[in-house]
Amino acid sequence: MRIVLVGPPGAGKGTQAAFLAKNLSIPHISTGDLFRANISQGTELGKQAKAYMDAGNLVPDEVTIGMAKDRMEQPDAVNGFLLDGFPRNVAQAEALDTMLDAEGMKLDAVLDLEVEEDEVVKRIAGRRICRNDSAHVFHVSYAPPKAEGVCDVCGGELYQRDDDSEGTVRKRLEVYHTQTEPIIDYYRAQGLVVTITALGKVDEVTERAMEALKGRGEQAA
Ligand SMILES: [Zn+2]
Repeated sequence: MRIVLVGPPGAGKGTQAAFLAKNLSIPHISTGDLFRANISQGTELGKQAKAYMDAGNLVPDEVTIGMAKDRMEQPDAVNGFLLDGFPRNVAQAEALDTMLDAEGMKLDAVLDLEVEEDEVVKRIAGRRICRNDSAHVFHVSYAPPKAEGVCDVCGGELYQRDDDSEGTVRKRLEVYHTQTEPIIDYYRAQGLVVTITALGKVDEVTERAMEALKGRGEQAA
């Protein structure tokens, strides 16, 4: 099963990707991991990516595509893969199609995790983190500390990360819409898009996704 996962920040995409990949016995390929692996292994593409990043520039599509291609050719990806964070624009989606075409393969589904925008803002903007340990995480509505602004675990001061402010979250959502909606339209025209709501408990969302993906992939096996 070859799947592309799309979803806005705050939809729990990384968590779902890990669970789905495990359930489907396919590797979870995230662009973040690809970059880290190529850079730490010092591959040619990794060196190129690092040079762009060090200069504060975006890594060009062909470098990202090259890394994705190398990864998809690994033995553990023969039965499929779950792509997370790639493609992130229509040009990359077209390049992916060309690459798969050349191998006589095609995508089986594009899983679109949908969340209410206000819900995402509420989830992220309500997050509070302990100054002593970033693993001590609370939420003003969903997991409030016993005393306001104080960590239950160690008594440290709780704060809101700049990235989590409502303005930043809204801006990230805006970027997501501008970049990703055209990809969803591109794949919708191919009949590949499966939309599920990403609200609720993690395992409920995974179950919903597995149900929605049922029957996909059989025609391409
Ligand atoms: Zn703490």
